[in-house]
Amino acid sequence: MSHDSVEHEAGTVSLDPTGERYDLVIRGERVLTTAGIRPREVGVRDGVIVAMQPLGNNLDGDEVIDLAADETLIPGLVDTHVHVNEPGRTEWEGFASATRAAAAGGVTTIVDMPLNSIPPTISVEALNIKREAAQGQTHVDVGFWGGAVPGNTADLRPLHDAGVFGFKCFLLHSGVDEFPPLDADEMEVDMRELTTFDSVMIVHAEDSRAIDRAPQPDGDDYGKFLASRPRGAENLAIAEVIERARWTGSRAHILHLSSSDALPMLRSAKQDGLKLTVETCPHYLTLTAEEIPLGATQFKCCPPIREAGNRELLWEGLEDGTIDFIVSDHSPSTLDLKDLENGDFAVAWGGVASLQLGLSLIWTEARQRGLALETVVSWMSDRPAQFAGLTGKGRIAPGYDADFSVFAADDAYVVDVNKLHHKNPLTPYHGKALAGVVRRTYLHGEVIDSETPRGRLLRRGMTD
Ligand SMILES: [Zn+2]
Repeated sequence: MSHDSVEHEAGTVSLDPTGERYDLVIRGERVLTTAGIRPREVGVRDGVIVAMQPLGNNLDGDEVIDLAADETLIPGLVDTHVHVNEPGRTEWEGFASATRAAAAGGVTTIVDMPLNSIPPTISVEALNIKREAAQGQTHVDVGFWGGAVPGNTADLRPLHDAGVFGFKCFLLHSGVDEFPPLDADEMEVDMRELTTFDSVMIVHAEDSRAIDRAPQPDGDDYGKFLASRPRGAENLAIAEVIERARWTGSRAHILHLSSSDALPMLRSAKQDGLKLTVETCPHYLTLTAEEIPLGATQFKCCPPIREAGNRELLWEGLEDGTIDFIVSDHSPSTLDLKDLENGDFAVAWGGVASLQLGLSLIWTEARQRGLALETVVSWMSDRPAQFAGLTGKGRIAPGYDADFSVFAADDAYVVDVNKLHHKNPLTPYHGKALAGVVRRTYLHGEVIDSETPRGRLLRRGMTD
């Protein structure tokens, strides 16, 4: 991939000034370029953007698409936190269904988490099993995280060389026995190992000792569940990650930030120059503990959805850059594991299903806060792509993959869980009215039809 073309005049450039035909030209008044939303024509050849010219230049294409007046062409979203669960727990979620849901939500790249599938992605052999399971059934591009568990330090470098994007660890029980947690000292050892090949440790930061000593969750009362996963447990674990990153010089990433209490120390660590990044998720930004009904275990996730005041501070953290980006943490299970009949938060699987809805959820909330579509899309495409080192993803610019969606920002819909594409029909957002409709999604310059899987399996550093 070459990015040596210079961008002139607010996003107008061509890698190919010869006037040849393009496979696809998309043109419209609203194309989200690196310089903002502009009237543009985008020329695509062999699945890659090769021309960006002012609207009216009439680029010649085998197929020419004119956007409707209410449509914006946005880069395909990049969701670096998805639990696909195949193989091993394919009844929870699989590559075909997850990537259909992704495409319907405008997401063209996902990076799959190393746990909940069996085997977990903690060795090259396990990675190969996962890749074989995914091969030929993905509707979007798919990359993989590796896992750091006790005893697999020697597997980290081979996994890196095999193309994983980094390594996930837990600091408390992960929810599945085959993916055990590290203690802080073990995490430090692995962080030191990762510095030798400049990989990143991505951490589920809740402290096991603090959770063990917290009140136990009990029954259908969300308040009791919330009390069982206190902010203090999250704050303590985040402090540990920060210090171990400081001591080792390792890149570190805080997954699914929920506790706003941690924002000042994250801000301070970033000011100190630590290689630290932070993500949060739509459920922490759009839902509140106060509104969760008795027994509504579709809202259960860890760390938990907290109070309205906490949510406000997370939005501030996003706007000031302490939080780098937004990803789904799509983590579904079968309906029986959500214990819907009893609604017992103590026994229900923890995980929110939302892969298809992220853009509309965040856009609905963000526009009320006066935030621009460009900002929202950057949080969900460009920033996560940069974080994962996906150099050809997340922007509409020459040299980038022709992954787009056509987004009608002022259109609206009501979420019907039975029309979503993920495997098990449960989501906390059923019945919600949302702004912003994804009308079509393109992968490598072709519309995703949800029948012909054209997704690629990505490796770190792969450039085509
Ligand atoms: Zn997760």
